[in-house]
Amino acid sequence: MNAWVSQWLSVGQRIADLAARHDRNPGEVQLLAVSKTFPAEAVVAVARAGQRHFGENYIQEGVDKIAQVAHLAPDLAHELVWHCIGPIQSNKTRQVAAHFQWVHTVDRLKVAQRLSDQRPSHLPDLQVLIQVNMDGGDTKSGVAPQEALALAQAVAQLPRLKLRGIMSIPEPHDDPQRMQAIHEHTRDLLQRLQQAMPQLTLDVLSMGMSADLEPAIAAGSTWVRVGTAIFGSRT
Ligand SMILES: *Cc1c(COP(=O)(O)O)cnc(C)c1O
Repeated sequence: MNAWVSQWLSVGQRIADLAARHDRNPGEVQLLAVSKTFPAEAVVAVARAGQRHFGENYIQEGVDKIAQVAHLAPDLAHELVWHCIGPIQSNKTRQVAAHFQWVHTVDRLKVAQRLSDQRPSHLPDLQVLIQVNMDGGDTKSGVAPQEALALAQAVAQLPRLKLRGIMSIPEPHDDPQRMQAIHEHTRDLLQRLQQAMPQLTLDVLSMGMSADLEPAIAAGSTWVRVGTAIFGSRT
């Protein structure tokens, strides 16, 4: 068996074990395979094994890879769901709106407006998450927690976007309890947004990567975004 596929299988097993250990329903925690820097062949290998959702950080790389995958696996490509998980400059929104089905990194209204305006009319609404900077970390991306509600309310008005929840990338810590506490703050923020906007279904919490799967799942993550544990280390 291909190394990517066997690692993908172990990550899937690990997520199922962690979900059980933390009293989560197994189907509640989904795996987003982060294929950034890895070739289209890696995507096709795990897609053939059953993975459907893929995340890319760099817009041009993602758009090129989506086309390569369609070329390598025309039978499969239409079943794959592509998530943009990287920072989005205004001049990249058109490509994101045309090629991705999900965006995890909406952190300002201008970008959301452009994504809504530029979403091609033949495609379904773009599924979006607000990226929140929960710990004031160096990444700089993400809206401050106290500004998340105002942004979410504005994004929810945009016609071609469907707001589904929030995403965060806290600074890594060796102490899993500290990571879990940060992830729990993110979960609590989602609950507050849901209470403030009861007309929406905010059911998505994108948090946790290879190094913090357990604290993220314990805190209620519904999408874990995993790269290195599946595809290996990035050079
Ligand atoms: C690269 C990346 C991941 C995956 O990180 P790993 O540590 O490789 O699992 C997840 N989320 C975002 C936003 C990333 O940029």
